[in-house]
Amino acid sequence: MTASTTTTTTTSASAFHKLGLQTELADAVSALGYEEPTPVQREAIPLLLQGRDLLGQAATGTGKTAAFALPMLQRISQARPKPRETCGLVLVPTRELAMQVAEAIHKYAKRVGSTVLPLYGGAPMYQQVRALERGAHVVVATPGRALDHIRRESLRLDSLRMLVLDEADEMLDMGFADDLDAILKATPENRQTALFSATMPARILSIAERHLKNPARVTIAREKTAAGKVPRVRQVAYVVARAHKPATLGRVLDVEDPVAALVFCRTRLEVESLVETLNAHGRRTQALHGGMQQRERDRVMGLFRAQKADLLVATDVAARGLDIEHLSHVVNYDVPASPEVYLHRIGRTGRAGRTGTAITLAEPREHRLLRAIENFTRTKIEVATVPTVADLRRRQLDVTRATLREALLAGDFDHVKVVVEALTEEFDIVDVAAAAVKLAHAAVAGNGDDREIPAAIVHASAPDRRTAGGPAGDKRPASRQRRSSRAEGPTVRLFIGAGRQAGIRPGDLVGAITGEAAVESRLLGAIEIADRFSLIEVPDTLADGIVEALKAATIRGKKVTVRRER
Ligand code: AMP
Repeated sequence: MTASTTTTTTTSASAFHKLGLQTELADAVSALGYEEPTPVQREAIPLLLQGRDLLGQAATGTGKTAAFALPMLQRISQARPKPRETCGLVLVPTRELAMQVAEAIHKYAKRVGSTVLPLYGGAPMYQQVRALERGAHVVVATPGRALDHIRRESLRLDSLRMLVLDEADEMLDMGFADDLDAILKATPENRQTALFSATMPARILSIAERHLKNPARVTIAREKTAAGKVPRVRQVAYVVARAHKPATLGRVLDVEDPVAALVFCRTRLEVESLVETLNAHGRRTQALHGGMQQRERDRVMGLFRAQKADLLVATDVAARGLDIEHLSHVVNYDVPASPEVYLHRIGRTGRAGRTGTAITLAEPREHRLLRAIENFTRTKIEVATVPTVADLRRRQLDVTRATLREALLAGDFDHVKVVVEALTEEFDIVDVAAAAVKLAHAAVAGNGDDREIPAAIVHASAPDRRTAGGPAGDKRPASRQRRSSRAEGPTVRLFIGAGRQAGIRPGDLVGAITGEAAVESRLLGAIEIADRFSLIEVPDTLADGIVEALKAATIRGKKVTVRRER
């Protein structure tokens, strides 16, 4: 590590330190490449450290996991618990999220030595019981499975200091209200409680009223912006799975062909890895992050201003105060942690009457953040499908046509006319022209990646008006939900012997199949939930494997019949 990196790592650690976090935790997030706290972290961390209960309105992608996990770890480490005392419990709606949150907490906890364990349905009970016997300071669980363990007394909550209800609206949507009440009853009165939810309907407020003590409220987007404050920028978002982000960015850049683009990433480490990927694909890219010395930053900015680099990949901290004249595009490699940050970023393009484009890559789970941004800015973000190989080819031909047109208008090609004249003695003139265009096109089009990028689906429990086909803002579980699946080949429907009466939601089915049969959710098609059964469309080739895997599993705590639809 160079001296400069050490200095700036310390700077970013100190931003977290200032919120009241102990050195081990501040250093841990700094080592992960976080340069400064996100808005929800800035507000929530000090309050939670003081021991306040908290009602937070924040969706996935805002940094809310660290907002509750860091104070939780600090309070636990101060209590010096025995290895088998569970002091923190985080309840989340899905197994996916349980794994994700547990992994994040594990990373944050490295230097304080707290242990964390995820518990979710579908996984063998005995393994979880054994893991609980070994003990974990923090348990991250789905409500159904948490309750199973509480009832068996494999999960004891007498030492619980802090409880977090994460994505509470989703938990209610998935029918976990009774489970939540039962779990809350099993926790000590004097516990600290934080509730996070992307929306604040009356049902959530009622839970907060019953179970939170004088909670502080934290909201990430408080007021709408005044009209006229939003720059006139074309705003487009692509919803893609994390794994397809690098390819999507490449494809979008190929199609958009920016003059100069600023790409924002969340962390220093992300900046570095993205720069490497882009350069490996032959793009002239430079990095800009808080871990770089001023001299190095100036050099990068010089290259960018002189148009010797077309892409600048930066963190918010590093890009602050930069004034770049010729930006045609701003790209959010992730949805920014707050609408304010989004607005600030996209304001860097479309300056001085020029047209600009803001592109955002969102993971399916971050979809809600896009809506929060639309709400805040009172503008529309067009959710587009990732350009296909055919789109790219079409676009490249357009460019070739435009280049040839320019050449024709400019004239000055008498010196090559003799070649045309000679060839037309032997070939048709249109063929001669076509062959020349082909060569010119090969030079212009370059070598764009020609693999198709699969479309992502929006998380089933959060239907979205654009991709899931439900009415806008409809929070009811759609009885039939269209999912924009790109599964290739024939599909079949699977019959699942539990439906609305058993509290089944689309998320349960998707969760069970992705979790048990390791099938990617994008391959799953339409879901229909009837009173007593459900149907889900799956690729024919995977159907038998899914049936086998689900036979051994439980859905919402029960064994159910699963077979091909007759
Ligand atoms: P969450 O909203 O908790 O799901 O977090 C969204 C993403 O932001 C995760 O990938 C985190 O690792 C990342 N993240 C959280 N806090 C910060 C921060 N202060 N700076 C940069 N990235 C962060």
